[in-house]
Amino acid sequence: MRMSEDADSLYDDDDAGELDEEFPLGDGTADSEATVSCPYCGEAVEIALDPGGGTHQDYVEDCEVCCQPWRVSVQYGLDGEAAVEVTALGE
Ligand SMILES: [Zn+2]
Repeated sequence: MRMSEDADSLYDDDDAGELDEEFPLGDGTADSEATVSCPYCGEAVEIALDPGGGTHQDYVEDCEVCCQPWRVSVQYGLDGEAAVEVTALGE
């Protein structure tokens, strides 16, 4: 049974020059974590980001303090800096 193409790309790190041209976030300079304020309880919570997931990501994550569901929107700039926005799910 073959590994999926996604799994293959995880082992491509030694070919970073090639990766740079397509997606500069893959070289380890992109933000891999961010601190956000929970829209429900207001706590500052540090969340892990996945730079390899694309320049723009939208997903749902639960607050680790109050367990309410967030909608997390991540937008990476060309410099690898992540702009993270967290809103209450369903609003
Ligand atoms: Zn919360």
